[in-house]
Amino acid sequence: MTNDVHDVTPVALSTYRERLRRAAAAAADRGVDALLITPSPDYAYLLGYRAPAMERLTCLVVPAEGEPTLVVPRLEEPLARHGLGELTDALEIVAWDETDDPVRIVQRVVGSVLRVAVQDQMWARFALRLNAALDPAQLVEAGHTMAALRSVKSPEEIDRLRAAARAADEAMLAITAEPLGGRTELEVSRRIGEHLLAAGHDTAEFSIVASGPNAASPHHHAGERVISEGDAIVLDIGGTRDGYCSDTSRTAFVGEPPAEFAALFAVLREAQRAACEAVRPGIPAADVDAVARDLITDAGYGGAFIHRTGHGIGMETHEEPYIVASNTEPLVEGHAFSIEPGIYIDGQWGARIEDIVVCTADGGERLNTSSTELYIVE
Ligand code: ZN
Ligand code: ZN
Ligand code: ZN
Repeated sequence: MTNDVHDVTPVALSTYRERLRRAAAAAADRGVDALLITPSPDYAYLLGYRAPAMERLTCLVVPAEGEPTLVVPRLEEPLARHGLGELTDALEIVAWDETDDPVRIVQRVVGSVLRVAVQDQMWARFALRLNAALDPAQLVEAGHTMAALRSVKSPEEIDRLRAAARAADEAMLAITAEPLGGRTELEVSRRIGEHLLAAGHDTAEFSIVASGPNAASPHHHAGERVISEGDAIVLDIGGTRDGYCSDTSRTAFVGEPPAEFAALFAVLREAQRAACEAVRPGIPAADVDAVARDLITDAGYGGAFIHRTGHGIGMETHEEPYIVASNTEPLVEGHAFSIEPGIYIDGQWGARIEDIVVCTADGGERLNTSSTELYIVE
């Protein structure tokens, strides 16, 4: 069903049937009568193929009780049947013609209910019209229901994340083996894109190259600045492979780092290591954030660590669970997320180290295996 271009374990048909069944059960648990899922990672997770999000409404209706229905524009029906393959048997397909009102069709499929959950990335034009059509039903976000399913990865999904992480490591080692001084951030960023693809990604999604004072901006966009001697460089790169994302950061330095930077980096590296070590089932996400944050704060850099410690990763680069002080939910086996503390000194420099970690019964497993040391480059 999925378009596997690599030698990976295919996702079995039974997996998607199971996901649909679990989505319905999760909806019932939350007192939701139906989930309305428009094209998005949630849609691909449940149905095994990606449909375009566009002005013609495509909507998967998963009722808490009964069979799911896929409402699709007539011209998208062949794509849907091809993408679904044998999963077609697990649902009803209702194709609508150009002059039909798809919102009315969804309303008819849903029936009279009290509570409907809509996919978080559903276009406002559909959400607002469904809200009016389904009145007096209450519309709520489907995000938490879907995240409860998607955040716990199966062994096959972890294999895919591992393969993506390995490809990102390879790209990171390739770029840090090249001389970077004298090149612009943009040139290096484009070069990383090539390395990401050469290492086995299907798509190169991002490559942050933040040099010198720009390294103090966590989400800096690579620009025309020429990298030079004495620069710290934060490299944060990722792509997708077989539908799953990679995301890793390493810090490089052009030439010998001054003692002040080496000291900062040693604190960061220890904080990142300790947070990875702290991962185990049952620990609240907030506590993992605190492990990194407390070490950085104790060393006097607390005010310079200006973001959360990490984010979940899977079919999206950023998804649940978030490793942040406000998330008191315990980690469970199968959660996959980044551990990426950073220290940013305005106007001077910055550093970040990021690994993808999976929570296993035995603790955290780092999927990125490249060294977290400071990469000294020319
Ligand atoms: Zn980020
Ligand atoms: Zn990153
Ligand atoms: Zn990240």
